[in-house]
This record gives sequence, C-alpha cells and structure tokens, in this order.
Amino acid sequence: MKRKKRKFAINVMSLAVIPILILGMFVIFITSSLIYTALKGEVANNLEDLARVSYQDFDMQYPGDYYLNNNHLYKGTEDIQNDFNLVDLIKNNTGVDATLFYQDKRILTTIRQEDGKRVVDTIAPDEVIETVLNNDKEFFSDSVVINVSSYVAFYMPSENIDQHVVGMLFMGRPRADVMNHIMHNIYLVSLSIITIMIIAIIVSYYYSKKTIFALNTTKHFLGAVANGDLTTEIDPYVLQRHDEIGDMGRFAVMMKESLSDLVGKDPLTGLHNRHSCDVVLASLIQRVKQKNTSFAVAMGDVDFFKYVNDTYGHQAGDETLRQLAKVISTHMEHLGFVFRWGGEEFVLIYEDMDRYQAFKHLEILQEQIDQESIYWKDDKVKITMTFGLADSNEYNDLDELINLIDDNLYRGKKEGRNRIVFNTLK
Ligand code: GH3
Ligand code: MG
Ligand code: MG
Repeated sequence: MKRKKRKFAINVMSLAVIPILILGMFVIFITSSLIYTALKGEVANNLEDLARVSYQDFDMQYPGDYYLNNNHLYKGTEDIQNDFNLVDLIKNNTGVDATLFYQDKRILTTIRQEDGKRVVDTIAPDEVIETVLNNDKEFFSDSVVINVSSYVAFYMPSENIDQHVVGMLFMGRPRADVMNHIMHNIYLVSLSIITIMIIAIIVSYYYSKKTIFALNTTKHFLGAVANGDLTTEIDPYVLQRHDEIGDMGRFAVMMKESLSDLVGKDPLTGLHNRHSCDVVLASLIQRVKQKNTSFAVAMGDVDFFKYVNDTYGHQAGDETLRQLAKVISTHMEHLGFVFRWGGEEFVLIYEDMDRYQAFKHLEILQEQIDQESIYWKDDKVKITMTFGLADSNEYNDLDELINLIDDNLYRGKKEGRNRIVFNTLK
C-alpha cells in the first residue's frame, strides 16, 4: 500500500512540475535563439552603417582616387600611407576596429599584434578577396581570423571614380566581445525565466501537496472504517474543500454513519445506539417475564454540557463525549450494557441486579468520572452526571419503566444535579 501511495504522490508531483520544466526549457531555448539572432543582426547593421559613413568621410576628407606612388598609398593628392588618424578616430569614437585595404593588403588598421604593432602589410583572407575584390560584393562573417583573433567582420569594396574596385574597407569587433554581450543578455533573460519557473513550481508543488494530503487523509479514514473502526474521524480540512476530493470525504463520512446505523452503533463514541438499546431492553423485558430475574436501567445525562460546548467549542464537546463513553464502558464491563441514547445522554443496563445494587455501582461510576481526567488540549474538562434509575421489579412494561427513569432523571436535575435518583418506596 505504502509503495502505491508514494508512486501516486510522485505521479501528481510530476504532473505538476514536469510540464513547467519542459515549457520553461523550451521558452529559454527559443528566447536565447531569438536574442542571439537579433543581437548578431544588430552588430552586423552597426558595422555596415559605420563602414558606409566612414567611406563617405574618407572621400570627403581626401577627394580623388586611390593609387600607389613610390610604394605609398595616395588618395587624391594626399599621401595617406601612414595617416592612421583616419582609422584611429573610428576606433576611438565607436570601439570598432577599422582597416583600409589597398587591393588585398592592409595599409591602415587599428588591429594590433600582441607586441602592440599594427598588423599592416598583411593580406585579407581568400574568401574575402574572392567576394569583395573579385566580385565587387560586400561580405559579412561572424568569424574571420585576423592575426590570431577572431572577429565579427564587415567588408565593403572601395572604388575609384571609374568604379574599379581598388581596395576594401573593414569594420569589425572582436568576436569574444560580441559573444560576451550576447551571452550576458541571454543570461539575464534566462535568469528571469528560471525565476518564474521556480515560482510556478513552488505554487504547483504547494497545491499538489495539499491535494495529496487530502487524498491520503481520506484513504486513511476509509482504511480505518474498512477495518471496523466506526469512531474514526476525517481531518476537517478535507470536508472544507469544495471540490471532488471534498465530496469524496463527505461521502466517506456519510458511509461511516450509514454503516454505524446498520450495525446499531453511534459513530461518535462507538457505543451501541438508541435503536440497539430498544432491542436489548425489549428482549430483557421478555426474559424477565419468563424467568424470575431482574435488571436495572439508569439514564445518565451530563450536567451543564452546553457550558462545555460554549466554553471550549463543539469539537471539545465531542471529545469529552468520546472520553466519557470510554469511562462508562470500562465501568460497565461484566456488569451489563451501555448505550448512547442521544446527545449527552447514556443508558446503562445492569443485568441481574435491582436498583439498590445498581445504585452502588453508579456511585462508583460517579467517582470514576470525577477522578478520570477528561482533557481538551491542555484544559481539564470537569464534568458531572445526573442519573435517573429504576429496575424491572417496578415495572415490566418497557414504556412505563422508561417513563419512570425519565422522571427520576428530571427530579435529579431539579434537585441540584450530580446525583442518582430512584424510588425507594415501591
Ligand atoms: P443540563 O444539566 O440541564 O442537562 O444542562 P445541559 O447544558 O447539559 O443541557 P441542554 O439540554 O441545555 O444542552 C445539552 C447540550 O448538549 C446541547 C447540545 O448542543 C449538546 N450536545 C448534544 N449532542 C452533542 C454532541 O454530539 N456533541 C456536542 N459537542 N454537543 C452535543
Ligand atoms: Mg445535560
Ligand atoms: Mg440532555
């Protein structure tokens, strides 16, 4: 049974948690891909815009064609072979590395080797030469190796006035920087999604736990009833639920009460009920008529029981009745029968005794009730009982006998309670 219970709990928990995990992972994956694509696109656009603007700046600053003269690169009339200001300005203002190529050779660049020297006079990668120089097209790549570092790079052809491609303009950012920026954004968004997931899992876990608790409580209650314990109680939490599990709990309680009725037992105290009492009394009266025996009957009513309910609450009243029923039934062992007549009233039948003998036993019972500690939580609940007593020698008609006992009980209440009243005359 235990193994099944745990398996069910795991199933419910999994139902609550696994979809959130799967959905969360899916959202993280999709969001990360979108962020990656968007940010990479943004870097590409950025480099492209910068390249175009810089290209126009060069033209405005030094109008005219690019050409070599004495191994120096000229633009228009200016020797720009060592004019690194052109590219350094871009780097300083935007953080982007820039390179001016004449044909496939780096002439001006901001990219430096480890020793600090610029990587001038080196050659562009073959793929770039093919696309930009030979085919007059722009080229973008998120991984171009220059010197020993990888760059996110944009190349555009530079043309002379006759529209011949004579070189290239490169704009690039170190790939590691770009990736760090992208990963930082992905990390922040993922962290938010994971936080939301954790909150969702906690909420779902909390509600699943309550559901499992309610189901387990109902299961234990039904288990106890199945084992014949008709005094067992269900946790009130289940009965407060307004869902199917609450209904199950309520039906289980109704089933226990119906079963108690069927077997003639009172569901609160586990004692036999009033109907059983009627049956036993009828058969004892029959026996008395046939044989020369007698029996005594006492009806006991708790004094000021309303006060217990009012002071400690109805649940305390129930618990008091349960504990009191135990005291009385222990007392009645080997003496006769005890029944819960209703409310806070009990009927005690002393077999083969007259009212005088029963009186002595009732006095002992009163003492036991007085001494027995009936507790509700930490409070000792003080109770006394008043008994009306009669025996079958007085009447062997059941109704008359019950009426006499009732009258005696009423007298006892009127005379001050906590007493046993019976007729000594007849
Ligand atoms: P008295 O000494 O005159 O008998 O006073 P009393 O307060 O005991 O009598 P009363 O008839 O005014 O009140 C009986 C109370 O017992 C009222 C009712 O709510 C309470 N009672 C009856 N059955 C149960 C029960 O099953 N559980 C609880 N908690 N209270 C019950
Ligand atoms: Mg009472
Ligand atoms: Mg009463």
